[in-house]
Amino acid sequence: MDRDTDEKQSLKRDIDQKVFVNRNVTLENIKCYGFDMDYTLAIYKSPEYESLGFELMRDRMVSVGYPHEMLRYTYDPSFPTRGLVIDTTYGNLLKVDTNGNILLCSHGFKFLKGEDIHKYYPKKFIQRDDTDRFYILNTLFNLSETYLYTCLVDFFTRCTRYTKCVKTFHYYGDLFMSFRSMFHDVRDAMDFIHNSGTLKEQTIKNLEKYVIKDPKIPLLLTQIKEVAKVFLATNSDYNYTEVSCLTCPGSSKKSWRSYFDLINVDTRKPLFFAEGTVLRQVDTDTGKLRIGTYTGGLQHGTVYSGGSSDIVCDLLDVKGKDILYVGDHIFGDILKSKKRQGWKTFLVVPELAKELQLWEEKKNIFEEMKRLDVFLAEYYKNLDSGNQDCPDINAIQTRIKVLTYRMDMSYGQMGSLLRSGSRQTLFASQLVRYADLYSSTCVNLLHYPFNYLFMAPPVLVRPFPSHVHENKIRESLHRCMYEGFVAAMMCLCTKMIFCLLHMNCYEM
Ligand SMILES: [Mg+2]
Repeated sequence: MDRDTDEKQSLKRDIDQKVFVNRNVTLENIKCYGFDMDYTLAIYKSPEYESLGFELMRDRMVSVGYPHEMLRYTYDPSFPTRGLVIDTTYGNLLKVDTNGNILLCSHGFKFLKGEDIHKYYPKKFIQRDDTDRFYILNTLFNLSETYLYTCLVDFFTRCTRYTKCVKTFHYYGDLFMSFRSMFHDVRDAMDFIHNSGTLKEQTIKNLEKYVIKDPKIPLLLTQIKEVAKVFLATNSDYNYTEVSCLTCPGSSKKSWRSYFDLINVDTRKPLFFAEGTVLRQVDTDTGKLRIGTYTGGLQHGTVYSGGSSDIVCDLLDVKGKDILYVGDHIFGDILKSKKRQGWKTFLVVPELAKELQLWEEKKNIFEEMKRLDVFLAEYYKNLDSGNQDCPDINAIQTRIKVLTYRMDMSYGQMGSLLRSGSRQTLFASQLVRYADLYSSTCVNLLHYPFNYLFMAPPVLVRPFPSHVHENKIRESLHRCMYEGFVAAMMCLCTKMIFCLLHMNCYEM
């Protein structure tokens, strides 16, 4: 390897430092950067933080009357994955694709097989628009809730004091427990630990244990502020925001506010991206709200409560298309800001670090799946619509199923956040649709200059026929490139984007 090649290699970003692209974003045109706080600027330690949330909710359930045996359950991070769906009628936890086709189904900790799934869902499909029945667990806060609901279903299904009478109920004496009422009780417990301040109180008491101190966060904000406006829009209140932002090394009570041109707390997203709420000023000495609605111009150093995305644009004098908004909530941060306001969006997906690492580690499985795909193509290559022969592909299908299962299990019991075998999850399809950019952390923006052109691969969502080999895909992509630098960028990024989201080579 010559010196030039050595230098080029050293300039390559590691895979976990990359920002992935769904749609082009020219950073040079971004005049304003907005940030969410929880799980975006305030990075929580996983699984410690989810475990705390689980224990507080579990204890709350017991305090409102649930059996003391529930206290035996402890949080297992290998079980839940974000983006799962609770069927409140049957108490099942479902992993579905974008159309509602069921990829995985568990009842408590028992995973259901094909024929059992058919008993509940004859078409192996749910109407996920039925939001009264199906609840999507979209946020990282929902992980502990997902696990608690699973524990409850497991307990009432296995406890001999309770008898299952129909698919939807358990009873004990004259007490009826429906999966639906359990769901509402878990939701209430979730609201309780957030609204009562219990979770925040415990977090503040043990900041070292639950929050990651990343010196790159203040560095990122400082660098952005040199080239654009910066605002914070968080659903948290002022006091908690101050404590969370102070966890950044080098931050002082005075300085954390100086990273932003505008600070909005209590934003009540997703309402913030629609009609919003009354804009009020916060007294930063006491944390209390000043009376009345604020109607004046932007005052530097002032913290505001409530408001809306329209008010942010007015105060900062920017247009929606000039804003890049960075958040971790696919619905509250990304979908709503994109659909309602046309903002450019950057989704923080902390799980991506593990997803990418496993993809690298399990290369051998992926390679074998590619070989099987080539075998399949060989079987069919000389056949057409007039051919009556039916090749026996059972062995290949079985092997693909085994490999898919092994791949899924390496991510956790519910598999990958983004896929099940070759099929994209609902979360992945929303990520593709609404997030212009995405990465495991917003800090990765530091690895790109602020005039960078994030260029999306010139592909459709599902562009490739099943027999196209990866090298051929790469060649065809490169032929489509007009600019040399874009081709270079594609070499770096295409493989993982392609592997994670855009490739669908193994439909069975
Ligand atoms: Mg957040």
